[in-house]
Amino acid sequence: MQELTHYLNGEHVKGTSGRFADIYNPATGEVQAKAPLASAEELNKAVEIATAAQPAWGAVNPQRRARVMMKFVHLLNENMDKLAEAISREHGKTFPDAKGDVQRGLEVVEYCIGAPELLKGEFTDSAGPGIDMYSMRQPLGVSAGITPFNFPAMIPMWMFAPAIACGNAFILKPSERDPSCPLLLAELMEEAGLPKGILQVVNGDKEAVDAILDHPGIASVGFVGSTPIAEYIYGRGCSNGKRVQCFGGAKNHMIVMPDADMDQAADALVGAGYGAAGERCMAISVAVPVGDETADRLIDKLKPRIEKLKVGPYTAGDDVDFGPVVTAAAKEKILGLVQSGIDQGAELVVDGRDFKLQGYEDGFFVGPHLFDRATPDMDIYQQEIFGPVLTTVRAGSYEEALKLAMDHEMGNGTAIFTRDGDAARNFANRVNVGMIGVNVPIPVPLAYHTFGGWKKSAFGDLNQHGPDSFKFYTKTKTVTARWPSGIKDGGEFNFKAMD
Ligand code: NAD
Repeated sequence: MQELTHYLNGEHVKGTSGRFADIYNPATGEVQAKAPLASAEELNKAVEIATAAQPAWGAVNPQRRARVMMKFVHLLNENMDKLAEAISREHGKTFPDAKGDVQRGLEVVEYCIGAPELLKGEFTDSAGPGIDMYSMRQPLGVSAGITPFNFPAMIPMWMFAPAIACGNAFILKPSERDPSCPLLLAELMEEAGLPKGILQVVNGDKEAVDAILDHPGIASVGFVGSTPIAEYIYGRGCSNGKRVQCFGGAKNHMIVMPDADMDQAADALVGAGYGAAGERCMAISVAVPVGDETADRLIDKLKPRIEKLKVGPYTAGDDVDFGPVVTAAAKEKILGLVQSGIDQGAELVVDGRDFKLQGYEDGFFVGPHLFDRATPDMDIYQQEIFGPVLTTVRAGSYEEALKLAMDHEMGNGTAIFTRDGDAARNFANRVNVGMIGVNVPIPVPLAYHTFGGWKKSAFGDLNQHGPDSFKFYTKTKTVTARWPSGIKDGGEFNFKAMD
């Protein structure tokens, strides 16, 4: 049994708390490794190391810090297969999808190479007589990040790349389900030239998280995960005086207008609903066809596509569409919600409950499910299922469809499929959701834009990556400078003999 470590001050360090989390192979259900769960003392040690290392790193000029990012991009590309394998092995997602996980994080690192440009302050010449005013962006000190299981490469990089490019030290507390890839990332950052102690990985659960939230030496906390934990971390972190941004769960609606290309909409829904077994915060989990005729046409197109999906372990090759879910508990929760949908009267059009894979009977596989005629009062509509379950809610009109997306408490992403520019424009303008797709089902913004939901999908005021991240990981200092006249007017410049 492999025992994973923490990564402190440039070294793999064994856990000392005596507590461990089981890491499963989701395809077989077997425990393949264990991750140490840090105590508050272990977290304190990491903060001590980070606090000692940060001032020197913060004083390194931004261009040199950017060069570490350049080298890191090179190493990410060189180690792409190894990183993706570490993800697939513990998370269960397919190998090409795991590479996408690394790739989308890598793009944020590329963006951070622009640190010298992004950290340039503002300057006003002659703000008053003989007065100049300028502002600079300075690092916060020690930052921490708490990340979810579903993107073990991308989301840690969303946080630590800008934090470190801005001159901070960073402590990463990754998900205890799949920490191997984050540990590899920390090693690669050092190989790229990052000084020891600037990026550390502390594995753990609530105990380590609470120690982060209460430690006076940690200036900022970034969190991505489920909404109840996001809300908790935001409250406790803020009340301890930290800068906090928390991103939570989702229930993303895709509106399908009567004029949409139905093949295109069905293809998009299948990819966005079932990719990564639905374990994406930007997955589409609710389809909202407008009008019964649209709904009938959409279901007709969806059903055969979903029935053809290939579910299997990542080792079975690139034609697998999605893998197992992450744990037995996740599988149980998903199947429980499917049962509630049936009990509450939704129509189960594709039933994946009996899905079994020969040779992998104990794996956490869940077959694809499609519900039709769900209503907003049902649990399958209100709750985030985070599994391969697509729920269809039929809307009588565009306004009704828009209202559904607006009234849901989650507001991460949403999409509209239509050929009508006016409908698309109206939707994008009015809907109270953070990221909108127009004929794009998973509208994840690229690295140089920012990522963040609205309503219960995010807590805090700045988004992740893009220009917002450089604001989140720095504080502004503004200098007003006046130099009274000196040597220039009254000085004596000529060489004279002493009298
Ligand atoms: P989770 O909330 O269970 O865990 C996230 C992190 O919080 C982990 O590091 C975990 O160790 C820690 N944690 C768990 N319980 C805790 C507790 N009681 N106190 C303190 N810390 C705790 O989430 P998950 O299951 O790993 O990830 C899935 C969730 O993340 C989904 O809800 C998904 O929508 C969301 N997500 C959101 C985004 C986004 O950007 N909005 C992106 C990816 C995932």
